[in-house]
Amino acid sequence: MSNLLDRHRAVMPGWMSLYYDDPIEIVSGRGRRVTDSDGRSYLDFFGGILTNMLGYDVPEVREAVERQLRTGVAHTSTLYLIRAQVELAERIAELSGIANAKVFFTNSGTEANETALLLATHARRSDQVLALRNSYHGRSYAATAVTGNRSWKNSSLSPVNVHYLHGADRERFPHLSDEEFLAFCADDLQHVLDTATATDVACLIVEPVQGVGGFTAAPDGLLGRYREILDRYGILLVSDEVQTGWGRTGEHFWGIQAHGVTPHVMTFAKGLGNGFAIGGVVAEGTLMDALPANGISTFGGNPIATAAAGATLDYLLAHDLQANAHRLGRLLVDGLRTAAEGLPVARDVRGKGLMFAVDLIDPGTGAPSPALAAGVMEHAKERGLLIGRGGLYGHTLRMAPPLTLTEDEAGEGLGILLDSLAAAC
Ligand code: PLP
Repeated sequence: MSNLLDRHRAVMPGWMSLYYDDPIEIVSGRGRRVTDSDGRSYLDFFGGILTNMLGYDVPEVREAVERQLRTGVAHTSTLYLIRAQVELAERIAELSGIANAKVFFTNSGTEANETALLLATHARRSDQVLALRNSYHGRSYAATAVTGNRSWKNSSLSPVNVHYLHGADRERFPHLSDEEFLAFCADDLQHVLDTATATDVACLIVEPVQGVGGFTAAPDGLLGRYREILDRYGILLVSDEVQTGWGRTGEHFWGIQAHGVTPHVMTFAKGLGNGFAIGGVVAEGTLMDALPANGISTFGGNPIATAAAGATLDYLLAHDLQANAHRLGRLLVDGLRTAAEGLPVARDVRGKGLMFAVDLIDPGTGAPSPALAAGVMEHAKERGLLIGRGGLYGHTLRMAPPLTLTEDEAGEGLGILLDSLAAAC
């Protein structure tokens, strides 16, 4: 293993994140469990990185992919018609709730956000973009530019002119009630428009629940308030649903629905292919059609990825996994919250559906403690549980198990998490 780690370090960039002091190589998976190259089994409470939305080795997805592979055509080109791609686009357009929607497929969330920014900046002939503080939208030049989290921001150079808003930083304003906070954020948006722009802004891009940022969410309703203001100026609303789509947040199919508003554009990726690389953007047809020149993605929406995505969507809807996420998410957040009350290192247990988190702090100073968070992760790994880390200071434990999680597995994972918290603190 260490040999593989040395080889990784020798040929791959130093800025690539790797979890654990002794990183693992996962060689197989079934259900919600994976096995590493040393034969150790883990319950995966991070679902890959929200990629394995149904868990591992789902026969329906495997068979759909195998069927396509048996045709002898893994992919040719998106210059030819691809039936599974068209069918998937029809379903996503319908599911999006966006009127007359059209879909463009990419290979990743980053590319999806690039496309959304291209659509919006072209439509509005403006390079001005609004984003939220602590956001993460990907690692390309423009996606990095609209990222508002220094640990993931490799450059402040930018092809777009970005202005950051309050909104997902509710905990920094404890003296305000929720209603006061909503009013404060609406005022902040108006103030930014009035002071930093000529209101000729292309779009606001926003994660309904910030993923990398630590599963922090703007209070429900905020994006509706924003949209009222944006509409006065024709500014587009882009919802980055890369982490929050497909029922992950439990109560709603798309994260933005918690805000009582439909965006002009949505981007998606991660879980849709259940491990196969697929992302995309869904937008109002006129907006989507408005780009003037030719454009394809060579691999975006290829037959294998769209077959996997179609089967994943079938399974997700047939088994109502959104309802499962809602029910088990509540159990897990309640359980973690109760336990955290007795732990001086744990703060702000929060979550929506199967997307929940806790911050770790130094009990003496109250400062965010990335070291404690890393320690808990190591203990959890030793006990057979994989979880994620994030937050502005790397001090947040993030849990996002597959949406097929069972109640027994939820109890098992929570138990290990609590043991690990106790052991590390
Ligand atoms: N947007 C959000 C909200 C994400 O969480 C991520 C990845 O973590 C991205 C965009 C970028 O997606 P990808 O890594 O597939 O390019």
